[in-house]
Amino acid sequence: MRVTFSLFHALAVLNWLLATESLIYFSLAVLQALEDGLKRADADPSVKAVTICGENGKFSAGADIRGFSSPNKQGLGLGPIVSLIERSEKPVVAAIEGIALGGGLEVTLGCHYRIAHVQARMGLPEVTIGLLPGAEGTQRLPRLIGVPAALDIITTGRHISASEALKLGLVDEVVEENTVEAAIRLANRLIGQPLGHRRLSLKPVPKLPNMEAFLTEALVKVKKRAQGCLAPELCFQAIKAATEQPFADGVRKERELFNILLTSGQAKALQYAFFAERAVEKWTTPSGASWKTASPQPIRKAAVIGLGTMGRGIVTSLVKAKIPVVALEQDLEYLNTGRKAVMLLLEREAMKMEQGGQTLDFNNPARLQFAVDFDVLRDVDLVIEAVFENMALKKEIFNKLSRICKPEAFLCTNTSALNIDEIASVTSRPQQVIGTHFFSPAHVMRLLEIIYGRHTSPTTIATAMQLAKVMKKVGVVVGNCFGFVGNRMMFPYVQQAVFLLEEGSRPEDVDQVLEDFGFKIGPFRMSDLAGLDVGWRSRKDQGLTGPTLAPGTSARQRHGYRYSPLPDLLCEKGRFGQKTGKGWYQYEKAGGRTAKPDPWIHSFLSEYRDTHQIKTRFIDQEEILERCLFTLINEGFDILAEGIASGPEHLDVVYINGYGWPKHRGGPMFYASTVGLPNILAKLQKYSEIHPDVPQLRPSAFLKKLVAMGNPPLNDWMSYLHRQSNKL
Ligand code: NAD
Repeated sequence: MRVTFSLFHALAVLNWLLATESLIYFSLAVLQALEDGLKRADADPSVKAVTICGENGKFSAGADIRGFSSPNKQGLGLGPIVSLIERSEKPVVAAIEGIALGGGLEVTLGCHYRIAHVQARMGLPEVTIGLLPGAEGTQRLPRLIGVPAALDIITTGRHISASEALKLGLVDEVVEENTVEAAIRLANRLIGQPLGHRRLSLKPVPKLPNMEAFLTEALVKVKKRAQGCLAPELCFQAIKAATEQPFADGVRKERELFNILLTSGQAKALQYAFFAERAVEKWTTPSGASWKTASPQPIRKAAVIGLGTMGRGIVTSLVKAKIPVVALEQDLEYLNTGRKAVMLLLEREAMKMEQGGQTLDFNNPARLQFAVDFDVLRDVDLVIEAVFENMALKKEIFNKLSRICKPEAFLCTNTSALNIDEIASVTSRPQQVIGTHFFSPAHVMRLLEIIYGRHTSPTTIATAMQLAKVMKKVGVVVGNCFGFVGNRMMFPYVQQAVFLLEEGSRPEDVDQVLEDFGFKIGPFRMSDLAGLDVGWRSRKDQGLTGPTLAPGTSARQRHGYRYSPLPDLLCEKGRFGQKTGKGWYQYEKAGGRTAKPDPWIHSFLSEYRDTHQIKTRFIDQEEILERCLFTLINEGFDILAEGIASGPEHLDVVYINGYGWPKHRGGPMFYASTVGLPNILAKLQKYSEIHPDVPQLRPSAFLKKLVAMGNPPLNDWMSYLHRQSNKL
């Protein structure tokens, strides 16, 4: 960490640097040095103007969030310094290069003028870690750029470009060359000029003709988008205070709201999620392979096989990542349908990118080629297979790929649950076979579950991880088991949801509880969206239903355990969900999206209960939540114990990025740690006694062990995996 203060040409240039992972963060020492520097500049009569800049081409990434455990020293310590800058009698100019985020941008708001480099990015991302800009930013920004733009920037935390900042009036000038020199030139021109009108704290917030109505409407939107996350709403409240109160009172309100957020628990969860995402980049496997020693191979050309729901999105993601891609289908008819769908997606993406000043080149055959002949795959470096979920078909494809593709090519499967080793067994290169499990829609969802098989090489894992990064996705390396991490944890969750219907709930009751918890959609709305036929086909393949089921099998039992035939019965009636206009809900038409509770389902459920002599009972919200979530978490403990994932962060990152788990609850395993493992264990024991024929309710041995070891913090869980416990 270094702070320099230098004088030249009657001008003080303050710059500060704390290099951590190549970003510059504020620390206590930096704040102190900034304050000292400013005071010296103010006191020194030979200094006529001041420029504030960063070092090494970056202004500042704001406060180091690892320091938020001692908030008053960091997050809030900056506000008075920003005020000090603003009060200076000498003109202060900010020279913004690289990034000015969070506290970094708040510092520039105290300056009298701001100059940005054309490639600089700015933003107040505090909301994404459950906080608000706590250095008076919620009070100054609306005074500078107006309430609508400030609300947008502060409640979303999005980064903006220099050109957008110029349009909004956030910066005074954008330069293409040396920003610091431009700032110095401006500062020299400003010497002796009045500064009062440039002090944002003295300015009123620009009025809107309909401020009250605007704020009422804005709050509805902010709350809807927040889905239970507190920070966006409190950001809103802080900005609202700026419209109603003098600056000093607004600042007091900002501090009060900041402290509420800091102690709400959500900020801790969001910060955990932030670091969890970084932690999973450093993958390891039980055999000792790791990110440290494995190097990715370059992917200069890729192929996608199958242009259905998933293939289309995967092709789109590859094109966006500027990787030339061959898209292959089984025949010309499928190819034409697939091509049209891909082109439509790409056109939409290109339009979105244009709005941000970027272009997307996809009409070039060197970038995107469509084919039905496997021979075109001879020169690709990597293939992603996304054909129907059928082991025989996947094996046929992989055998063909193994013969046609060059020996060094990687072969990836987008299977949702099938055994990677079995797929790899039909190739001559099992070390280069890996699961790349995308989530739907694949060009939108950030998660990429990367599944290594018994023979998958570290290079193959590293290459898949690199591919995820290039595609701007979050790669999570996991082991091979049925359903991998995400779907495996989802099975007991959905199973409980269906059991609850048998016992007395309605689909909309269960969904409501989980949506109130923060899930984007509940399990029944999700099943309708994904298509009930997908699971039906899988259960038929597993012999759980359909013609292969042994005659005389009990309707509600399989292999001695409880089974619900409800989803099968719906499918037998052609109710596949949104695609057929009916599923757990009814829709306006086939393909419709608005789910309406269906009286048919209600009477179907009550007839079903009568047939099977199940006494309908009222099930409260607590039981719905606990049975769905705790079985999911319980499976997570088994996954950890089996070494399928190397830590709880992996499970949490999978759930936040692939399954709509509310980020402000930090992922299922983090949530478990906040509920307390003894509580989870006790509830599972209770439900398991009531439902002894449901093995998913039986507490995981690893969960029991952690409780016996005194409920250690989440960071320590994995260290207990192989420790002996004499309390068990
Ligand atoms: P889909 O039915 O929409 O598409 C499959 C495509 O594969 C079809 O267009 C079909 O013509 C093509 N295909 C079949 N045989 C082929 C062959 N021999 N050569 C070339 N193309 C062939 O299926 P989907 O939903 O896209 O699923 C694809 C895979 O992705 C499955 O393994 C599925 O389990 C998995 N997956 C699906 C989802 C999802 O939400 N749909 C999510 C994650 C993973």
